[in-house]
Amino acid sequence: MPFTEAVLTGLAPDGGLLVPERFPDVRDRLDAWRRLSYVELAQEIFRLYVDDVPGEDLDHLIADAFATFDHPDVVPVVDLGDFKLLELFHGPTLSFKDVALQVLGRLFEYILKASGGRLNIMGATSGDTGSAAIHGVRGRANIRIFVLYPNGKTSRLQELQMTTVPDANVYCLAIDGSFDDCQTILKTIFGDLGFKSRYQLGAVNSMNWARVLAQMSYYVYAALKSTEPPTFVVPTGNFGNIFAGLAVSEMGVPIDRFVLATNENDILARFFQTGVYRRGPVRYTLSPSMDIQIASNFERFLYLRFRHDAERVRAFMADFAAAGEASLGDGVPDERITAVAIDDAVTARTIHDVYDRDGYIVDPHTAVGIAAARQTTNGAVPFCMAAAHPAKFPESVDAAIGKPTARHPTLDALSTAPERRTVLPADKDAVADFVRAHATA
Ligand SMILES: *Cc1c(COP(=O)(O)O)cnc(C)c1O
Repeated sequence: MPFTEAVLTGLAPDGGLLVPERFPDVRDRLDAWRRLSYVELAQEIFRLYVDDVPGEDLDHLIADAFATFDHPDVVPVVDLGDFKLLELFHGPTLSFKDVALQVLGRLFEYILKASGGRLNIMGATSGDTGSAAIHGVRGRANIRIFVLYPNGKTSRLQELQMTTVPDANVYCLAIDGSFDDCQTILKTIFGDLGFKSRYQLGAVNSMNWARVLAQMSYYVYAALKSTEPPTFVVPTGNFGNIFAGLAVSEMGVPIDRFVLATNENDILARFFQTGVYRRGPVRYTLSPSMDIQIASNFERFLYLRFRHDAERVRAFMADFAAAGEASLGDGVPDERITAVAIDDAVTARTIHDVYDRDGYIVDPHTAVGIAAARQTTNGAVPFCMAAAHPAKFPESVDAAIGKPTARHPTLDALSTAPERRTVLPADKDAVADFVRAHATA
């Protein structure tokens, strides 16, 4: 499948996830890559996987995407002595989701301009993805975006990051219901194939291959800054971010190991400890973007683990769907991955300790990773992914530190900005009518 088709469709025709036919070996160019800026490196990596966009156009699009970041290094490294932080939160909505969604929004626009097509993006959010997706496509030609969220049940800051975006192609739909209601409505609408094709509905979920691809660059960037093959510590929910790291190690980039860190929603930690993938109840924690029990990118790991045997992946996922549980059966899941689950008490203590010792404020997701790193350290200085700016989670960060600390001017400005949103009942017909009336056709 050509790259641009993979970007637009999101999923494979059989409902599975897309993976590249092969991961190119880049060992012979690593020395040359060491001299590149982050943007130049991202351009090189995209060029390896994109077969149907002219290189110059791609370079331009990527440079433009990262020009929205407020740090000259895009993803700066901060050295705190016994660990380093890779700050991934310098994009417009202050979480690492911007790395992928700033690129994806521009890719959509580019592809649609070339084909004369239209796209109506629909998504449901309870956290960081909605605002990052909105900021990725705001003001872009031939695209409208409709984001459903549970009215009054997201944090006020998260809601403001969506509803204060003034562009006319953005529709924030506050649904009088739960997040599950929003997802059910979305599934029903996407399940109506006539409606889906008539209105050119698309999604920006974490399964889109271009999102993984965009996240691969920062692993290479950090690895090239290290004299020894590094350890990466990755707080995980959907297995998206950490899968990008595994893909980079498939390309021959020297990486020692990965520490996979979950919160109390520990399905992935349990799997990598025992080889058994078993669903549990969703718990609400201090790190809400990882309150997930089914990791949507996990199938991509299985594909690597089963040596590209798609039939075994299908059988494993079918077992899991039928019984809520599936087992690997043979050997360790992955020698490169050490998995740890961290509870809220340890998360809060970690935020407090890092601030006390270094004067550095970490958000709760980043803290989950740092706590996991501390439990698994083997002497080497790991790279911990700093997944979001702490000011996105002021209540929990301030409570952990014991005084108000977590602020960011972009977020402070939101409280006085005008809002635009539409409140709708938790009813699929009401949402479908709204989309019908406001879609681009
Ligand atoms: C999305 C998100 C995560 C989880 O990332 P996955 O790619 O789903 O594993 C962790 N932290 C923050 C702040 C996020 O926004």
